[in-house]
Amino acid sequence: MGTIFEFICTGCGYSAEVSGGADVGWKVRTQTMICLGCCELVDVATGPSLSLQPPAEKRRRCPRCRSRRFEPWGRADGPEMNCLSAQSALEVGAEGRFDCPKCGEMMRAGNIVALWD
Ligand SMILES: [Zn+2]
Ligand SMILES: [Zn+2]
Repeated sequence: MGTIFEFICTGCGYSAEVSGGADVGWKVRTQTMICLGCCELVDVATGPSLSLQPPAEKRRRCPRCRSRRFEPWGRADGPEMNCLSAQSALEVGAEGRFDCPKCGEMMRAGNIVALWD
């Protein structure tokens, strides 16, 4: 089960609804990325959840601008976390950087806005 949080920048007010890092649902893995094409935070599918094969690079595309250039954002791809452990990790700011792609200030995780599978 993947979890989408609302992240809000403490500096400029930019907000994005993303998982905040590596996430995994029933069918796909995703990774929150900064799109270098439009400077938006987007969740990009990185591959099927049950496969250990690395994803084909050509399948990664920004859903907004179709760019293929990304930088990973937020939590590193580490142990899979469930909803509660993900929340507590975000609260204490453990591992991972949550910098605003617009101004560089820290973004805070707000409410869960969606659960996806
Ligand atoms: Zn900002
Ligand atoms: Zn883009």
